[in-house]
Amino acid sequence: MPAETPKTGTEQMIRLLTSLTACFWAALSAPGVADDLSALARLEAEGSAVIDTAEGTEVTLALTQPVPWRLFTVDGPPRLVLDFRSITQFADVAVTSTLASGPDIGLSADGWSRLVFALSEPAAVGTAAMARRDDGGALVSLRLHPTDAATFRETARVLPEAAGAERQGDKSRPVVVLDPGHGGIDPGAEAGGLNEKTLMLAFARELEETIIRGGLFDVALTRDADEFVPLETRISRARAAGADVFLSLHADELPEGAGAASGITVYTLAETASDAASRRLAERHDKNDLLTGVSATGPGDEIALVLMDIARTDTTPRSAALAATLKSAFRAEDLALVGRPLRSAAFSVLKAADFPSALIELGFLSSEKDRARLTDPVWRQAAVRAIEAALVQWALDDAAQAPLRRR
Ligand SMILES: [Zn+2]
Repeated sequence: MPAETPKTGTEQMIRLLTSLTACFWAALSAPGVADDLSALARLEAEGSAVIDTAEGTEVTLALTQPVPWRLFTVDGPPRLVLDFRSITQFADVAVTSTLASGPDIGLSADGWSRLVFALSEPAAVGTAAMARRDDGGALVSLRLHPTDAATFRETARVLPEAAGAERQGDKSRPVVVLDPGHGGIDPGAEAGGLNEKTLMLAFARELEETIIRGGLFDVALTRDADEFVPLETRISRARAAGADVFLSLHADELPEGAGAASGITVYTLAETASDAASRRLAERHDKNDLLTGVSATGPGDEIALVLMDIARTDTTPRSAALAATLKSAFRAEDLALVGRPLRSAAFSVLKAADFPSALIELGFLSSEKDRARLTDPVWRQAAVRAIEAALVQWALDDAAQAPLRRR
């Protein structure tokens, strides 16, 4: 019976009796800093349930590790809200209750992930606790029982507008735009019977599926076919999709002079490249555009350039944080990175000023080792998991930073 409280002294346990209005935080373990992706937790289906019992409705949530959390009730209509720090994946919770339904999952305005249960009538939270399990996981247990509307109204909060998980309107979830590199007459790198354009489209679709299943983001692709899309068009398609974050996916050949490297590289935009190989890589991508008859740079519009520079003072640090979080997430999944995996160059596809972006080289198609990884479903799943975890962690950190950014 998962809701039972462990009694042994070795189990660190926090039990908090809460009143209706209680908003509490249980930090059983130090919350991970942004770049410690091993600290990310998941909500698991096994051991999680919402059931009606004689003593009330029991909500049990199994987490892979303890995280800071809080709960409160909301009126109009009645809901139970649970916020968690550092949970990046939410499995479906089996809910068989006449009182509670859902949950809806979203990012809360202050950068936590949020579960919202709809309540069929006003309900009070009895006991609520997070207990550490023997296997290192954690169990959230709480009990709800119906109460009268006046008591509920007194104690329930009013959520500010845009407070996540409501899924109303068009734009309740952040939009991730995935950009599978190359396409159509531009195959990208070709080696060992593989080509970059096909591999990246397949990878983007796998990543899209996983991110959508996570329920925290909407996803759009800059191309969903073997189609040539100019670099500037990729940005305008991302913008049209309402991009909040942009990830370009590549697996190029090893640039000449880069040595015998293999592994993942994460690039951000910079006018001056971090190294010669990165500069050549960015130039080659622009050249592919030019070869197909598209000019990568339009006529200089100085006012537009100045405005873009102003916007970039916001997006540049956000892109850098995204790249750093990606790097940590790849590390946490034990995926091989190149030496100095964070690099920068003047990639045209990263030049959007209005949303943060990064370019991931998932490997070098010229490397036999990387080709084996890129075609291994297990490796690809690990890479997909890492990118999804990084997006969630980054979005949470980014939302928390938002009030500090100048408007
Ligand atoms: Zn490429």
